[in-house]
Amino acid sequence: AKEVPGSHFVLYDSTLAYEAEQRMMMEKDLRLAIEEQQFFLEYQPIVHLETGRVKGFEALVRWQRGDLVVRPDMFIPVAEKSGLIVPLGKWVLAEACRHASLWPADVGVSVNVAGEQFKDVGFVAMVERTLAETGLNARRLTIEFTESLFSVDVDVVRGSLSRLRALGVKLALDDFGTGFSSISHLRCFPLDTLKIDRSFTESMLTDEREAELVGVIMKLSQAFDISTTVEGVETESQLEFIRKAGAGDVQGFLFSRPVPVDQVPSVIAETRNR
Ligand code: C2E
Ligand code: CA
Ligand code: CA
Ligand code: CA
Repeated sequence: AKEVPGSHFVLYDSTLAYEAEQRMMMEKDLRLAIEEQQFFLEYQPIVHLETGRVKGFEALVRWQRGDLVVRPDMFIPVAEKSGLIVPLGKWVLAEACRHASLWPADVGVSVNVAGEQFKDVGFVAMVERTLAETGLNARRLTIEFTESLFSVDVDVVRGSLSRLRALGVKLALDDFGTGFSSISHLRCFPLDTLKIDRSFTESMLTDEREAELVGVIMKLSQAFDISTTVEGVETESQLEFIRKAGAGDVQGFLFSRPVPVDQVPSVIAETRNR
């Protein structure tokens, strides 16, 4: 920041101003994009290690911005800060449930839900309504959330999670091992699955301590009767390692990149014939 001589005003650094402007422009575009439904979902299979079968697909949102496809890392943070994640997340959930209701009954769908959505008092009712409207069995839906949720309001969050679970919806703690990881989360909140973050998968073959940590997380989840999904598996050697460590499910480019919804049936068929 620069002092303007003779005044006590402070001018912001031009890069900060630029970023703020960019964010405001994106917010404006996002608002319009939601009205015009410029989004689509891709699906990445989650594979059961032991059988090699697809258990379900994670829905990943993309923004078709003109000729460009924008990845979620670029706009989800803006959507969260502006509250636009609420209408966007509602659309994602409905679209994913609609799609999944057409898949084989033993194939589920996982949907990412941001902390901001949990703050909305109508969230659980909205999920229930969406399930009813799409006819998707609650047991086929997994809601993925990150540890940032625990900084919202513990009692509200615990209440919402319990109500979701009572509906039959499964709960997955996403990106486990980044963020504010605490073992107490495993004790205090109902969870079905831990998703072990890709950063572990990247480093476990070269860093002994990271490898050790992965092993500990697996043992911990077994003790708590929570299943594990290892994210970002790209190579056979990574797969071999996590198989030995006792992982339950895997997700990653080794099996498949996220695919458009019309390719979901062929991804299911491929892994079934493996
Ligand atoms: P995430 O939940 O951790 O999702 C997994 C991300 O890792 C996806 O990126 C996926 O394409 C990528 N990935 C999967 N396997 C591999 C691999 O083997 N190697 C590498 N390098 N990457 C892999 P994507 O689709 O860009 O999504 C990024 C993040 O955006 C997600 O991370 C999630 O936090 C967020 N996101 C995506 N869709 C939604 C949504 O509908 N709502 C909310 N709130 N967040 C979303
Ligand atoms: Ca996720
Ligand atoms: Ca994740
Ligand atoms: Ca991640």
